[in-house]
Amino acid sequence: MTSPAVQPTLNVVMLGPPGAGKGTQAERLASRHRLPKISTGDILRKAVQTGSELGGAARQLIDAGKLVGDDAVIGIVKGRLECEDARCGFILDGFPRTVVQATALDEMVAMRGPLVVLDIVVPEDVLVHRLAGRRICSRCGANASVDAKDACTRCGGELVTRTDDGAEIVRERLKIYQRQTKPLVDYYAQRLTFRSIDGNQSPDIVTASIDAAITAAATAGRGRA
Ligand SMILES: [Zn+2]
Repeated sequence: MTSPAVQPTLNVVMLGPPGAGKGTQAERLASRHRLPKISTGDILRKAVQTGSELGGAARQLIDAGKLVGDDAVIGIVKGRLECEDARCGFILDGFPRTVVQATALDEMVAMRGPLVVLDIVVPEDVLVHRLAGRRICSRCGANASVDAKDACTRCGGELVTRTDDGAEIVRERLKIYQRQTKPLVDYYAQRLTFRSIDGNQSPDIVTASIDAAITAAATAGRGRA
């Protein structure tokens, strides 16, 4: 079963709204399988920082909590998947977000083996609680837990809500996510390699669920191919 030279391909798409813990789980998955975690959000933020042309266009949209257009994002991902470290697979986080992007991805990975799609599901009221309640210490910058009282448990400083996660923006982000990516689930749902994950559990239990789902989905996908 284990061969030193050949690593089985693992192509994963992670779906899930902001606050579902998708980034954390993608990170874990990537390091466990030694695959790159490819996040269009990270790539765009880096572009903004380095002041590239793409970055300029992306900045205003990111600042407004909006999403960058299909063509630009598809181009970014296509280029990234051609990199050497993605030869044996990838963990995609934040792409695709639309059916147009999903169709483009299917073309990109047609020769790469099964595409495992994981949809992390969390009830909306839980998401709003997690995201809008995210506060930091105004003095030392530490993250405060959702249930912390008025003062920082580390230094006693005042806790403030992170400005980019205010309730208005949270609701707007969830609304955009809902409107744009619901059709994606319909697009993928009938596939043998699609799995729904209950994200309203502790991160370690979510990780275990994902492991089990990947084994089942990858097996089903290879069996069909
Ligand atoms: Zn503090």
